[in-house]
Amino acid sequence: MEVFNQIEPIQEYLRTQRLMQKSIGLVPTMGALHQGHLSLLGACKRDNDISVCSIFVNPTQFNNPEDLKLYPRHWDKDLSILEQEGCDAVFLPGEEEMYRENPRMSLHFGMLEEVMEGKFRPGHFNGVGLVVSKLFHILSPDKAYFGQKDLQQFAIIRQLVTDMSFQIELICEPIVREADGLAMSSRNMRLNPEERQTATALYASLKRGASALLAGDDPGKIKIDNMQWLEKQGVVPEYFEIVDSETLKPVMNHFEKKLVALCVAGNVGPVRLIDNILIEKE
Ligand code: AMP
Repeated sequence: MEVFNQIEPIQEYLRTQRLMQKSIGLVPTMGALHQGHLSLLGACKRDNDISVCSIFVNPTQFNNPEDLKLYPRHWDKDLSILEQEGCDAVFLPGEEEMYRENPRMSLHFGMLEEVMEGKFRPGHFNGVGLVVSKLFHILSPDKAYFGQKDLQQFAIIRQLVTDMSFQIELICEPIVREADGLAMSSRNMRLNPEERQTATALYASLKRGASALLAGDDPGKIKIDNMQWLEKQGVVPEYFEIVDSETLKPVMNHFEKKLVALCVAGNVGPVRLIDNILIEKE
């Protein structure tokens, strides 16, 4: 496995691979790798000749400096996992390499960023859009792999690819969960045992919400009910939304027939967690 900290050497490496007609897949991550990331890498390896994983804790997408400071970083462990999993190349740039200057441009995604994560994390999707654009420009993969775990992020990146005419196919992989249902996340390792137990309420609330929706309950009522239920379980909920999975527009009544996403965010102790599920309504 080749590890690159700088832009030019990895571009040279990828140029050589392309000359040999190799297809290139990219898995962008912020490290502290878990099975969720590895499922993306598995899909990438299945579809491409060369799999590249990037590891970069992107400062411009953190609206909370404490969250950025405490974000887990263990590059050595990540690199040995990636080597074991058969990743071909890793792009692990420093901050100065990715941001030679403070960026002056900013990206806006209209309706897509006015709800949920965009509403509660101002500037977050500008940072995501910037870093993903940089990675796409630098690495020019044929395909790029993202997780449904960050459903709104995927909608934003799909818009980015359309608006900027990136010739890159996007693939969204399902959420990998712990045995008790908690969505895997690098942030889970910051939970103490009691908080770890409380965190299972997030997925439980999504399942409650999904059954209520399928039973015909009113989406507005389901949202309020689950916000209250989460509080009782010890979570400090930020939002519980029921939205169209692509446009992210709120679903107003249970007669609408489409793929619906239930999305939740909340704080468990000092850690902010998100989760979602998709349901096909009859
Ligand atoms: P992160 O390192 O948290 O920025 O995540 C990198 C990529 O892995 C993103 O596309 C995430 O959506 C995806 N991802 C994170 N957690 C999971 C999970 N539990 N299952 C599937 N994909 C995930």
